[in-house]
Amino acid sequence: MSSVTVCARFRPLNSKERRDHGDSPSCIQSVDSENFIFKDGKEEESMFCFDRVFYQESLQSDVYDFLARPIIQDVVNAISGTIITYGQTGAGKTYSMEGPSILENKDQNKGLLPRVVEGLFECLKLDDETIKYTVKLSMVEIYMEKVRDLLDLSKDNLQIKECKVLGVFLSGVTEISITDAAEALVHLSNGISNRTVGETQMNMESSRSHCAYIFTVQQESVRDTRLKTGKLILLDLAGSEKIEKTGAEGKILEEAKTINKSLSALGNVINALTDDSPGRVNHIPYRDSKITRILRDALGGPSRTALLLCCSPSPSNAAESLSTLRFGTRAKHI
Ligand code: ADP
Ligand code: MG
Repeated sequence: MSSVTVCARFRPLNSKERRDHGDSPSCIQSVDSENFIFKDGKEEESMFCFDRVFYQESLQSDVYDFLARPIIQDVVNAISGTIITYGQTGAGKTYSMEGPSILENKDQNKGLLPRVVEGLFECLKLDDETIKYTVKLSMVEIYMEKVRDLLDLSKDNLQIKECKVLGVFLSGVTEISITDAAEALVHLSNGISNRTVGETQMNMESSRSHCAYIFTVQQESVRDTRLKTGKLILLDLAGSEKIEKTGAEGKILEEAKTINKSLSALGNVINALTDDSPGRVNHIPYRDSKITRILRDALGGPSRTALLLCCSPSPSNAAESLSTLRFGTRAKHI
């Protein structure tokens, strides 16, 4: 059994959107904390319902409290969790995930990642003395279906393997043991700067790759040395925007096709996992992309997944926002 929480978040209008459409126009008419009406600026109106809607004035702490806090509690109890940000480039995925700066831990605007790290170690501290915990961190980037180690850039083509004992694993990936939140943030910050370095070398934009932050929480009982493991994966996806078919060629077109394929694979997997209708297909298509293969253990079995749909509220981005919201609806239901 697995459970999926789907939330939508609208960032504030940016200066370009305000210049184009003035201060007030927005595609969103809020109904309540779960329902809103989306107007595309022309004729169309659609009603959407999610587990929670974060409107423009929402705080980073609101998102964390609703979406991440329950997952952390479960990971400590060895139930795996995944938190995913989805949306077009510029919609607020990285802002929601990291916030303005990963090391500014006093900042009210800090994102999910620093909050998750703090929350995780707080839970572990409060917990039972008869259990020994180890927390390990890995960070990888997936570009054109190639997995690169962000904690060691010399490992630029990691292979995904599976075995009975370990489940799915990234062969040779760097795993750093972390003992507190401050230490974790330093490594995360290094990984994030490595991402920029690698991208400059490859002449690639971060919006074209997926980034996964992987925490493995292992617990050993002091009494009987029994081991339990919970995995927590935070995934900042590549931009979901459609590329103009006419203009795009060569590398840009290849990137767009690859991203598209992996995002639909992810949607299909979440959909298959949440489908409990009679006569459902039991086959979960994990093998269709690298991200779904990496997420396999975190998504399958007893687990919790949260999907944050990041959108612009502006009419100028209405088509992309609609496509993001529909992805979320499809992920949750048939
Ligand atoms: P993405 O990662 O989806 O491409 P970003 O997270 O980089 O988009 O956001 C694009 C810009 O919008 C950034 O300058 C970011 O600071 C700003 N932004 C995004 N979401 C918010 C928000 N909720 N509040 C304030 N600024 C935001
Ligand atoms: Mg981003």
